Amino acid sequence: MEKTFAELPDHWLVIDLEATCCNDGQFPREEMEIIEIGAVIVNGKTFRSVDEFQIFVRPHRHTTLTDFCRKLTGIEQAVVDSAVGFPEAMCRLTDWKAGFPDAVFCSWGEYDHRQFERDCELHDVAWPFGDRHVNLKKCYTDRFSLKRGEGFGHALGKHNLTFEGRPHRGIDDARNIVRMLPIIFEQ
Ligand code: AMP
Ligand code: MG
Repeated sequence: MEKTFAELPDHWLVIDLEATCCNDGQFPREEMEIIEIGAVIVNGKTFRSVDEFQIFVRPHRHTTLTDFCRKLTGIEQAVVDSAVGFPEAMCRLTDWKAGFPDAVFCSWGEYDHRQFERDCELHDVAWPFGDRHVNLKKCYTDRFSLKRGEGFGHALGKHNLTFEGRPHRGIDDARNIVRMLPIIFEQ
């Protein structure tokens, strides 16, 4: 558990992904693909946001978004149709992240980490984030000695925070996760 400032990075790279999905078994979870990357660099001491990155990504396998996915994320078909593919999106993300070489990749839960791994494998893109991934949901669970992990919206509410922006949009999810960092790590 990352409790002390001594163990904390100078910068966090908070990432939230949106992906193709369905609610009727149209395709298996393993075939989900990233359609939006939302990312925020956060100063590890002040917990202030330093920079942001957002990009939509055109899926390769299931190119037509399901109604469920469009409603969940608010991302329209035309937006992904005119978006760059995953390799180009990763080039741009990596170029942007190069300005913050010490930033440690973190996200709420393990999903985003796994989804990146899957898409990097599918497109033969080299892993850009180094070895370390911090699961903020686990850090939160440990910090408050909870018996089980909390959904993100629930965790925000417990600290009298209401979600700002649109839930299930990558950049808005990432910005709201940023608001939880001081709650998790401030001593
Ligand atoms: P989130 O960051 O919570 O918006 O979730 C990331 C991705 O997980 C979404 O873009 C969807 O692909 C998938 N997802 C989230 N919630 C659901 C759900 N209730 N049913 C199916 N897929 C979901
Ligand atoms: Mg999200």
